[in-house]
Amino acid sequence: MILSILGSKITSIAISNFNERITVKSIFLKISILFYLISPGPCMAEEDFSKELIKANPLSSNLFMLEGAGGNIIALLGQEGTLLVDDDFAQMANKLNAQLVELGGASPRFIINSHFHYDHTGGNEVFGKSATIISALAVRDRLQQEQLLWKELHPPVPAQALPLITFEQSIVLHLNKEEIRAVHYPHGHTDGDTVVYFQHAKVVSMGDLYFAGMYPIFHPEHGGSLDGYVKNIGEVLKATTVDTKFVPGHGPLRTNVI
Ligand SMILES: [Zn+2]
Repeated sequence: MILSILGSKITSIAISNFNERITVKSIFLKISILFYLISPGPCMAEEDFSKELIKANPLSSNLFMLEGAGGNIIALLGQEGTLLVDDDFAQMANKLNAQLVELGGASPRFIINSHFHYDHTGGNEVFGKSATIISALAVRDRLQQEQLLWKELHPPVPAQALPLITFEQSIVLHLNKEEIRAVHYPHGHTDGDTVVYFQHAKVVSMGDLYFAGMYPIFHPEHGGSLDGYVKNIGEVLKATTVDTKFVPGHGPLRTNVI
């Protein structure tokens, strides 16, 4: 159950699709805040990336979940070009590109950013020179301003790292016989969270609306909220089925989560 990590008491969501009531505990709020305060974050600036690898997990014949140093990545490969959801840290770009080639793909043509956090968008500055980056408008707004994340100040990203195409609610791409639906669910983890549905493969990229096997984190300083987090996960569950595969922002692939 995807929501089992959330606990039970602050609120409840009735998910009619599954005829199931999911309850969320007040302890979740305390634990999330505690975790946020004590955690060093997904990565510190001085981290050594030399030993980090990109590991590929097949989701279908041309769809892969890639695990590297930052947030999980989805790669859709095919004759019409490669599409990524998220692109790890900039320091991982060469290894990411090499893995795409090894899988029979090419450098990314399109990149969708799940949210602005740099462990998911760092590769923008490398790939953005040739790829078209797509995101919720709130993500572009964050990337072009100085941001405080994990107690570290980050300057605005270079121009080529900014999303070229933005949307406020949703956008649909049609590539390699797949329908890719990117939907903006604001005010959960951050104000720019985007969930990406690969409709034919029944795969969903959750971004950091889902930390598999870990407590969730929301960032009030980036427009996130607990109520939004819970509401948005409920919306995603309504839009998916029992055989959907969920790619979390961090942690292993999850199936049969309903
Ligand atoms: Zn994040």
